[in-house]
Amino acid sequence: MTNGGLWPQVERLLASVERPARYIDREWNAVHQPGADYRAALVYPDTYEIGQANQAIAILYATLNGLPAVVAERAYLPWLDMSTAMRDAGVPLFSLESCTALSEFDLIGITVPYELTYSNILEVLDLAGLPIRASERTEAHPLVIGGGPSAFNPEPFAPFFDAVLVGEGEEAVADIVAAHRAAKQSGLDRAATLMALSAVPGVYVPALYRPEYDADGAFIGVSAVPGAPDVVTKRVLADLDAHRPPTAPIVPFMDVVHDRFGVEVLRGCTRGCRFCQAGMVYRPVRERSADPIVRDVLAGLACTGYDEVSLTSLSTTDHSQLEEVLRRLQRRLEGTGVSVSLPSLRVDAFGVEMARLVSAGGKKSGLTLAPEAGTQRMRDVINKNVTEEDLLGSVQRAFEAGWRRVKLYFMIGLPTETDDDVRGIGELVGRVFRVAREATPPAQRGGLRVAVSVSTFVPKAQTPFQWDAQLPLEEVRRRQSVLRESMPRKGVELHWHDSDVSFLEGVMARGGREVADVIEAAWRDGATFDAWTERFNPSRWAAAFEACGIEPASIANRERTPAEPLPWDHISAGVSKRYLLRERERALTGELTPDCSFESCAGCDVCQDLGVDIVLGGVARG
Ligand code: SF4
Repeated sequence: MTNGGLWPQVERLLASVERPARYIDREWNAVHQPGADYRAALVYPDTYEIGQANQAIAILYATLNGLPAVVAERAYLPWLDMSTAMRDAGVPLFSLESCTALSEFDLIGITVPYELTYSNILEVLDLAGLPIRASERTEAHPLVIGGGPSAFNPEPFAPFFDAVLVGEGEEAVADIVAAHRAAKQSGLDRAATLMALSAVPGVYVPALYRPEYDADGAFIGVSAVPGAPDVVTKRVLADLDAHRPPTAPIVPFMDVVHDRFGVEVLRGCTRGCRFCQAGMVYRPVRERSADPIVRDVLAGLACTGYDEVSLTSLSTTDHSQLEEVLRRLQRRLEGTGVSVSLPSLRVDAFGVEMARLVSAGGKKSGLTLAPEAGTQRMRDVINKNVTEEDLLGSVQRAFEAGWRRVKLYFMIGLPTETDDDVRGIGELVGRVFRVAREATPPAQRGGLRVAVSVSTFVPKAQTPFQWDAQLPLEEVRRRQSVLRESMPRKGVELHWHDSDVSFLEGVMARGGREVADVIEAAWRDGATFDAWTERFNPSRWAAAFEACGIEPASIANRERTPAEPLPWDHISAGVSKRYLLRERERALTGELTPDCSFESCAGCDVCQDLGVDIVLGGVARG
């Protein structure tokens, strides 16, 4: 099959499926390079409308398409109606740009964004006509490489991938393509190719690592075969300004999540929230400087026609030049109808001031703030570095300035939490509501909304809480009822994160390679799109755990000792275990650790171990 080969078959299926725009080519700015001699398919393992805006894929798409004689195309997981129609008609999973079967590419790169997409990976591989286990693939199959936020504990999905990229992709993808091309030219077989790939920094080849168990079946560590590195350390880009992000992103034909132009303004976050995996694994902070940010926003808007631009990062309001960037954008975009959005705000006066700047003259959308915990003691345990005065002061200023809606994010089940901390959430929400009401003119109080979203804490690999137990389900439900009773009855909308979902996330987040069998069993029983509420079926997963003889509670709800080997010990984010343990001890005593971007180094070791510096305003701090 050559370029466009599957289109006649695909086209016949479109009349009978929902949202056929998910499956068609020719969006604005899509890249077509029929003559390339190396072909990579980039796959987001969820529907088009969820995956289309993924910035990692957009970056890799632009990077790969910029390499000589290389083409990258995209594929998404078809919704159930389409996958059924494809299976019935014998149509394999195809790329959007040339409607080519994925199995004809040299490389399939699948981003792994989140624990509940793991079953979708198997669906992608199976629909593509590939064996789902790497060990069963032959010379005839493409290389299947994973990457993304979940790579920092890749073990539960490791057997499905030939390789997993740990860390940032801009430079690594070029190295991977070069290594693969060289291997092909030298006629290496698959095993030798994988060994060659394992020499690329940041590339983890699961087949070269074996989990080991003692006589009682207890996990005692992962060992590398001779020739493979003992520890795979993440790739990190030292200078973001040296890599221009894509400024000609694809404009979809249909509504997608985040239907706007996104420009990444900084990477990393060193505020040091102890529960936050992204904050730990994407260190150190590297800011882009103001000039390229403004330039790229204007360039991207010009070639997409979007009327909204989002300045993205883990904590955009921490950018040291944000105020300048926003003022310059305000001047340049005045009268164009283009709005600027910030995905996350600091719970302090600066955050509100920035919100005021981005909404100057325009509509004030809701304000989103994340105090995370209801009491100061609990916020100190997680190193949130935010006080109640910060929060109430921000809400007061925002409502005085015309906001009428605020959304607050909290977690329950954090280490050391007591019922008083849980009730503290309800009491704090009550105080927020009163402050918001008093700051709102009486005639407008009817439109006042406080939305509260409460998730259950899931301990994640590579964080100071990686040794901690997740709350058992019954205890989560009891605490949820404590919280419900403490929540003000009027003016507050309360939303929960499903506790069964959190439990499965917890198992996937800290499981070892044995969990792969469970994922396969659940998928064979019909599990896909688990992140979609209507599709998630906890009993299907319970049956899969039972069939595989794995007790999920022993993974999610068990505290580990610091001496215990962890399934991800051979994967390094550059942050030392010594630092994580120290942070855990400080959590237990409620000691705060300041933000190393602006205060002193907290000794996480990432700068020294990876040879990267904090970059503020585009300038390395050294
Ligand atoms: S090594 Fe120090 S300065 Fe660098 S990210 Fe870690 S705590 Fe911050």
